[in-house]
Parts: sequence; C-alpha cells; structure tokens
Amino acid sequence: MKKLLLVIPFIALLSSCDWFKKTSDNNPPKEQSQEASLAAIPAFNGDSAYAFTKAQVDFGPRTPNSSAHDKCADWMTKQLKKWADTVYVQSYTATAFDGLKIKSKNIIASFNPKAKTRVFISSHWDTRPIADEDDHDKDKPIDGADDGAGSTAVAMELARAIHSQKPDIGVDIVLFDSEDYGQPNDSKLPHVENSWCLGSQYWAKNPHVLGYTADFGINLDMVGTADASFVREGISVKYADWVSQYVWNIAARMGYSSLFQSRVYGGVTDDHYYVNEYAHIPTIAVIRYNEEGFGSYHHTHKDVMAIISKETMATVGKVMLETIYQYNADKAVKPSI
Ligand SMILES: [Zn+2]
Repeated sequence: MKKLLLVIPFIALLSSCDWFKKTSDNNPPKEQSQEASLAAIPAFNGDSAYAFTKAQVDFGPRTPNSSAHDKCADWMTKQLKKWADTVYVQSYTATAFDGLKIKSKNIIASFNPKAKTRVFISSHWDTRPIADEDDHDKDKPIDGADDGAGSTAVAMELARAIHSQKPDIGVDIVLFDSEDYGQPNDSKLPHVENSWCLGSQYWAKNPHVLGYTADFGINLDMVGTADASFVREGISVKYADWVSQYVWNIAARMGYSSLFQSRVYGGVTDDHYYVNEYAHIPTIAVIRYNEEGFGSYHHTHKDVMAIISKETMATVGKVMLETIYQYNADKAVKPSI
C-alpha cells in the first residue's frame, strides 16, 4: 500500500456517533448490558497466531507466480476448511504495473453464511517481490513476516476461535492476494494508477457471493510487531468513521488505548480503500502507521520473524473478537445502522 496525503475536513473529525459513546459508558442501557454479559467470547491464542505466522514465513516469500505462494495458498485453504462453514477460493489473473500476469487467489472463509447481519475481517497474504525500501538486495523478495503473514495469521486465528464458539452474526475472513505488487516509487516505467491492492480490487468488483455485502469490514495489515501502534487512519475515517470510532472505543474499554491510539492521522491506500470505493461496504484499516510512517522494516529484509510479537497479535485479535461478538447487541440498541 502507499501513503496518501489526505486533508480531512475538520467537521468530519467533530462528527461522532453518540450511541457508540454510550456503549463505552460505565452504565450502558440495561438490556444491552444483559445481552453483552451473555455473549460468550472465545479465547484468542497468541501462540497459535505466532505459529500461523511462522508457518507462512517458512514457505518462503509468498510472491505470486512462485511455488511458495502456491503451497501457502493450499495450506491456508486446508486450515480454513477445518473451521469455516464454507471456504471460497477465488482464482484470478491480475496484471501488474509492469505488465506481468500474476496468478492470484483470494481465499474467503465464511461463518453463518445465511446470516444477514455480517461483518468481515481481511488481510493480504501475499508478500512484496522486491525490497525497494532496503539499501541492499533491493531486487530480492522479502519474508513479509509482518507485512502479509502476521495479519493473515491473526485472521486465521480468528477463524479458529470463531469455530470454537460461533457468534450470532455472519463473519467472513477474507484473505486478499496480490496487494503488494505495486509500482515502486523509483520505477522508470510510466505511472500506473491503482497498481496496489489488486486482490481487493478484484474482490470488491467480483465478490465471492453475488450481491455480497456486510455491515462493515476491518482490514488488518502489519499488526504483529512489539512496537506497533494504530491511529485512526484517514481513509477509514473518511469512509467509515462510525466503524473506526466503534472499534477504537471497544479497544479503549478493554484497556488497549496505547495500542489503538484515538487520534486521526494521514491516510493509506490499502485494501480497505478499494472495498469502500468499489463495494461500498464501510471498511477501516488497522495498520501499523503513524507520523513516522510504516516502520523502518517496511519493504526491507528486516521484515522477519524476529520482529513478530505474539502479545501484539493477541491484543489485536481480542479487540476483533470483542467487536464481532458485541456487535449484534449494540446493533439492537441502535437498529438504524
Ligand atoms: Zn507491503
């Protein structure tokens, strides 16, 4: 994905969804409190998420058109079939900025497929074929432990957890491919628009189920490092402010406001942008990104298992589970959403 300078109208920053604030109060409406207390939320296992990260990295760089990419897709599909009600594999051929045809697979694991109220959690699972932010071996692919594997592992662990204790809504775990084949900043080729996020662009225009929609989506990207923090990123706020506020309020209520920081900052053209733009599903990004950028390891050979923190992944996973399992009760309080 790439950074984007974004000016958010001040008025947008002031707008707020009062009911979400109410759900964060110490004294929520009585019926909501009772419903919330009945919601059984499964455990999120950070060790399991770490193991899923390592399993992906052990295949080697998951660059489209490589055998590591094929093997990883097969492994993830097999794993998800153990847990989900239905698994869809969307095969498509994307055209990269340099004209290369890249064989790609979006993998979607659905829970409670008939439920009308549904949300999705997504991540991209492919890795960048070059290390263009590094100062050596720029032409070699990266391990993508955090950029690709970590967030995908969190999504997989969510699937495992959801299988153990089904929520009362539909959930789709969407693993996008060919996110990270975008045109480098120093490319000599003519500029190609929308060269990043090819998998989410495909899915948003060709959903796995005809007419698919969801109340909202959350895209995870680079959520696995010890020193991560997540601001309320500007594209998310522009398209889906209520979702951003909702998730960040949940994180704050759980005591995680140092990881989920409440300020609004910048903007990133990541998979959530194309889902908002093409599928019109309010979708936010939870991404390691702030005033310092994406982190010094980003698109370099430093993006390796050593930077992965099972604690950070577990915190993100717990916030996602709380969001999934709380949402129906909150929606009952505010049915107009
Ligand atoms: Zn990347």
